[in-house]
Amino acid sequence: MIQPIYVYDQQILEQPCPDVPHNSPILTNLIIDLWDTMRNAQGCGLSAPQIGVSYSVFIIDSKSVFQSIGTAFRHKYYEPDDKGITETFINAKLLQTSSEIWTAKEGCLSLPSLVRDVSRPWKIKISYLNQNLEKQECEFTGLTARMILHELDHINGVLLLAHLLPFSQKMLYFKLKSIKNGKVKVTYPTMKKQKLVA
Ligand SMILES: [Zn+2]
Repeated sequence: MIQPIYVYDQQILEQPCPDVPHNSPILTNLIIDLWDTMRNAQGCGLSAPQIGVSYSVFIIDSKSVFQSIGTAFRHKYYEPDDKGITETFINAKLLQTSSEIWTAKEGCLSLPSLVRDVSRPWKIKISYLNQNLEKQECEFTGLTARMILHELDHINGVLLLAHLLPFSQKMLYFKLKSIKNGKVKVTYPTMKKQKLVA
């Protein structure tokens, strides 16, 4: 089911998420909701806290991004044998990161209309459970690694703003204010902070 996406200034986006118990009754529906919500918002990654659930679960679709990038540019984002993935990550743990760093533009469904350069490792190794709760230990590179690191940040309560220099963060003051006040128009349902009524 499509859920509203929590946007900037919601407290749940700034809290680290615990691992989800394997037998959690909400897990199956949570995964379905994440895919429905991400596809509806035309995103390529989404984490559970972004739909209001504080558990370590996120999804990635770097396969459709691969297909949408012109063949002449793919080498900037993908290794030659990589065509992207569609995968669910449960209780993921970052095991290794490469010293090779690259910079690329990132956006976030919780920070609509904001796109900024972020530097991240090119290659990572992580362990996680897939949606069948099978333990995986894999290496990912390029854009797929970037997307996983972005979602892992969400699981740790970190937004991409944290990767910007303090000066750049200050420059965003008015933009962030309009996001949290719902002034930025989006094509998907969002959840803003409820105003307290006396
Ligand atoms: Zn995000």
